[in-house]
Amino acid sequence: MNDCLFCKIIERKLPSKIVFEDDKLVAFEDVNPQAPVHILLVPRRHIESVNGVEETDRELMGHLFWISRKLAQERGVAASGYRLVVNSGASAGQSVFHIHVHLVGGRAFGWPPG
Ligand code: AMP
Repeated sequence: MNDCLFCKIIERKLPSKIVFEDDKLVAFEDVNPQAPVHILLVPRRHIESVNGVEETDRELMGHLFWISRKLAQERGVAASGYRLVVNSGASAGQSVFHIHVHLVGGRAFGWPPG
């Protein structure tokens, strides 16, 4: 995707603070953190949102959770609690249309979400 911000980060055409990567995903620090820990986990494959997830992506979606869990542990928020957020579509507040998981932690969060 030529005009996708996260594709450009994945391809190293834009700078970011990458904290983890493998053959399936790249994880980097959110540029505008909403909590002491705020990491974005982004699959290398360009999928616009949850609406674009195919049956063949099921393993990839599980991998996003698996690495989220590992990073939560690594950042020391696994025991205290953290939140995984996937905004899908305009009403949910999605602003970058390349599917991603927000891993946020290090403070208490309210419910319901704003
Ligand atoms: P969403 O609103 O769920 O689509 O989340 C997009 C996230 O991407 C926001 O939390 C932004 O702060 C973050 N973001 C936007 N541009 C960058 C960037 N260049 N590097 C890192 N994070 C970014």
